[in-house]
Amino acid sequence: MFKKILIANRGEIALRIQRACREMGVKSVVVYSEADRDAKYVKLADEAVCIGPAPAAQSYLNMPAIIATAEVTDAEAIHPGYGFLSENADFAERVERSGFTFIGPTPEAIRIMGDKVAAKQAMIKSGVPCVPGSEGALPDDPKEAIRAARALGYPVIIKAAGGGGGRGMRVVHTEAALVSAVQMTRAEAGAAFGNPAVYMEKFLQNPRHIEIQVLADTHKNAVWLGERDCSMQRRHQKIIEEAPAPGIARRVIERIGERCVAACKKIAYRGAGTFEFLYEDGEFFFIEMNTRVQVEHPVTEWVTGIDIVQMQIRIAAGEKLPFAQRAIACRGHAIECRINAEDPFKFTPSPGKVTMWHPPGGPGVRVDSHAYTNYVVPPNYDSMIGKIIVHGDTRDQALARMRTALSETVVEGIQTNIPLHRELMVDAKFIEGGTSIHYLEGWLDQHKR
Ligand code: ADP
Repeated sequence: MFKKILIANRGEIALRIQRACREMGVKSVVVYSEADRDAKYVKLADEAVCIGPAPAAQSYLNMPAIIATAEVTDAEAIHPGYGFLSENADFAERVERSGFTFIGPTPEAIRIMGDKVAAKQAMIKSGVPCVPGSEGALPDDPKEAIRAARALGYPVIIKAAGGGGGRGMRVVHTEAALVSAVQMTRAEAGAAFGNPAVYMEKFLQNPRHIEIQVLADTHKNAVWLGERDCSMQRRHQKIIEEAPAPGIARRVIERIGERCVAACKKIAYRGAGTFEFLYEDGEFFFIEMNTRVQVEHPVTEWVTGIDIVQMQIRIAAGEKLPFAQRAIACRGHAIECRINAEDPFKFTPSPGKVTMWHPPGGPGVRVDSHAYTNYVVPPNYDSMIGKIIVHGDTRDQALARMRTALSETVVEGIQTNIPLHRELMVDAKFIEGGTSIHYLEGWLDQHKR
């Protein structure tokens, strides 16, 4: 096992990784920007090094500064968390070339999955079902796009091969709008992701977002840890996640889980990963693979009892997975609400000083957050300031616990989306379960204020 790990991230996930290290008896070094100087997890860390000013480009994305910090602090491995450099194959490569262990997949695996066109091709080869779409990237000739869309039938969605975080996508309903939509997405993708390649998929009208968590070691073992339903999204960004997915037969989930494990073995995947699918009319369609720990990993941790962050570290240290697939069982139901510093109904960011932070507690409640009373939410980063996760024997019990937890939570000084979560937890359709990825946007339209 490593003696010391550098955490190349911030916020709640930096704290989450630090906790995993501490439990395992591993020392941790956190890097931080000037904007995060007073963060509590920075003070709690065994060592903390300021690597630059607030803008992420000069701090959390500053590869030489991060690697130099690993050198001077004698860290042996680097955990990238999620976001920032976590899915940057060049970073993984530089980390390994500098003699450190990257806690994640190989640079090659990250590179393939980071190019959604290449990822889909790898999945088709491994027998994982994909959304029907263009064969590979769309060529420059607009006639080819028109031909592909006619073959699929409208609506279609144009997606950037290098896209992520819900950006770089455009839905097209008519042939008249197609060519300009392809051009615009291409131009945006080139500017935002440095890769102008775009591809086309059939736009599914009413799917759910279901994803499969996997773990794979370097000894040819791979397992899947059940599924998560992340259909409650706004602008392709998840805000509520749960495990298991309500109303889907176990054998249907098992079939897709086994396919994911087979794909991991085929591509010699290592570490934690997530296969994301759209699920419609009993069928799964792969959309992308995330080669890192995800924000929503706690719901899976709670139903399986497996610490995913610790498993990432053990796998990176060369250990074998300590359990076989048959030993993995899911118990009860878990739900996560992401707490964002933003106007709950207009979604404008609301950074600033948290004058009062009172998190919930009690049976079946977990709070992953770096916030505290007098914490100042910097305006420079993502608006998520924490997550409330609950577990119950049944989905109804989990829902009841989430309602109680949200009613206990007090955050003052800034606005948060807690009022939105409170309303969603009593929404009849959400309580019924199985809402599609478009449900939340429709709900927000109807509940405009
Ligand atoms: P990102 O990497 O930006 O998260 P994804 O490919 O995972 O991009 O897609 C994000 C979300 O966009 C999905 O969860 C879904 O809501 C929507 N989406 C993507 N592809 C399709 C599609 N073919 N049909 C309908 N919705 C889609």
